[in-house]
Amino acid sequence: MKKGKKLYEGKAKVIYSTNTKGLAIQYFKDDATAFNNQKKSKIEGKGVLNNRISEYILENLAQIGIKTHLVKRLNMREQIIKLAEIIPIEFVIRNIASGSLTKRLGIVEGTVLKEPLIEYCLKDDKLGDPLISEEHILAFDWATKREVEKIKKMILRINDFMVGMFRGVGIKLVDFKLEFGRLKVNDKNDIILADEISPDTCRLWDSITEKKLDKDRFRKNLGGLIPAYTEVAKRLGILHETSGLNNSNVTSLSSFKRKNKK
Ligand code: UDP
Repeated sequence: MKKGKKLYEGKAKVIYSTNTKGLAIQYFKDDATAFNNQKKSKIEGKGVLNNRISEYILENLAQIGIKTHLVKRLNMREQIIKLAEIIPIEFVIRNIASGSLTKRLGIVEGTVLKEPLIEYCLKDDKLGDPLISEEHILAFDWATKREVEKIKKMILRINDFMVGMFRGVGIKLVDFKLEFGRLKVNDKNDIILADEISPDTCRLWDSITEKKLDKDRFRKNLGGLIPAYTEVAKRLGILHETSGLNNSNVTSLSSFKRKNKK
């Protein structure tokens, strides 16, 4: 497969065309952004970890029957994906109150929600990804009623699976963001999970200490983002313990790189 021209560049990833119909390459950058692009930085190694963590989670979701855009990981920073028409909505799923929910509604950070809460945001950086209702989605044809119902069912299965998966490795899945796309299969539109699932798009707290193991380390200037993402990868069994919890993050990342050479 040959990599073609850049189709789209987002804040953390680039999508390239390929010479195979329907397939694209998703490249994970090291760029970190927050607060609608107002805070920016480059964090060496972040893209490598997110590529690997996202591959692991999407592969596990595929095993429980969730259709995803992931075909396979190509190398350290790239995956082959199915090119879908992205539904312009960010679906946020919350199990514990944090982030914008606490600010918007005055809910105390850390409040455990009775049930998973699904929120919708319009994917529009210029507007700051505003919160919208299901009625907005239908009124402006961003998705059909059937699509929304199907996505909600998928989201609850994904959330159930991910809460359990993270609980098993001593991590609380506080909240996360998903994106979905439409894919034509035999002239019928199907819905597939797209984008990435990584510590950039999830809030992950250590179950005991509640230490943040996600992008809030960058948003809140806590430092230690790479060690936190590495810790998530290690607990999921993606990185080997011997790659050195006690060594510097550079050491563990470089041994990860060695093990994952093309
Ligand atoms: N999120 C994301 N991309 C976005 C907005 C949110 O991946 O553009 C994720 C974020 O990492 C968190 C969850 O969605 O896990 C909920 O984010 P929130 O609405 O609290 O917004 P934030 O506090 O990140 O502005």
